[in-house]
Amino acid sequence: MPDQTIYFKNGKMYKVYPSDQENWYDAKYLVSDGIIYDLENVLDIKRIPVPDFAKSNPDLMSGYGVTGSLDYVIRMKAGNARSKGLIRESDELYRKAILLMQASGISYDERPYLYYAKELLREGRFQESEIEEKRAYAIVEQQRRAEAYPYKTLHQKLFFQTLEVCKELGRDHLEIMYLYSCCEQCAKYHGRVYSISGKDKRFPKIPDFILETGEIHPGCSHSITSFDPRFNTILFRGADVDAVIISNRPFVDDRTDSEKQAYNDYLKRRKKDSRPYITTDEKEYYRIKYTLPDIAPKSLSGYVRMKNARSKNFMKLRDIAENRGIRISLLNQ
Ligand SMILES: [Zn+2]
Repeated sequence: MPDQTIYFKNGKMYKVYPSDQENWYDAKYLVSDGIIYDLENVLDIKRIPVPDFAKSNPDLMSGYGVTGSLDYVIRMKAGNARSKGLIRESDELYRKAILLMQASGISYDERPYLYYAKELLREGRFQESEIEEKRAYAIVEQQRRAEAYPYKTLHQKLFFQTLEVCKELGRDHLEIMYLYSCCEQCAKYHGRVYSISGKDKRFPKIPDFILETGEIHPGCSHSITSFDPRFNTILFRGADVDAVIISNRPFVDDRTDSEKQAYNDYLKRRKKDSRPYITTDEKEYYRIKYTLPDIAPKSLSGYVRMKNARSKNFMKLRDIAENRGIRISLLNQ
């Protein structure tokens, strides 16, 4: 069996050779825009240019999708090279993948940008890990800003685009869509149609603060869309209801118990999801492991358990670690 080669044009894969090999994430050779590169050779990896992803023919995506995007394939290869002990090659592949991800046009969250920082942390390369971690967050923050520009959030941008369309088409009505899991503030405003100008007296006028900010409160996740008043119903609690009647109900928090429960569940989920991909516990653990190998717990989960329990052994370990310059946070995370 010859070494596997993967073929790309403008950052999108279109061929795997030999074609009967299904897993192309560990291919040895890459042909990108007609030039061949050895993916297990540092100098070759450095030479791979960032292709013009925007030029790629969407047809080439078929069959491979995101998993055939050059940034994705290089990232997977970085992991595979590392597990084979090709650390320098893997370092170079990860750095290349980070450049490619930024150019790919795919909006990733922090996580894939942090893979490299996490590998470095686990290998005891703490300084490099910190630099890569900071870089990852900076990239994602910058991309978020660019997407929302000239607004602060993408959510606001969508609202002001909607408002612009209303102006162009001479529409005067907005609907704040009903949301099952909704906070007490939003409960007063969602599930209603509003008049932007206030001229249509059948509906309340859209409050000025929403018109100015595009949201009921910062971080609000309600969608606000334009509404065609020829339709006389909107969706509320899963049913089509009379738009005029529902829009004029009292402006109070009228959530049912199950809606309140759904909102509390949502908050819990969000708290869990917002745990960083590289936690403070993990940073502490690997510093202890490499600095104090004789007394380090056997695993990260063991460390987290003793830390959460604030056991005597943990407090002792903490004293020793702090004496060696490792900061141990006692905040919950
Ligand atoms: Zn809300």
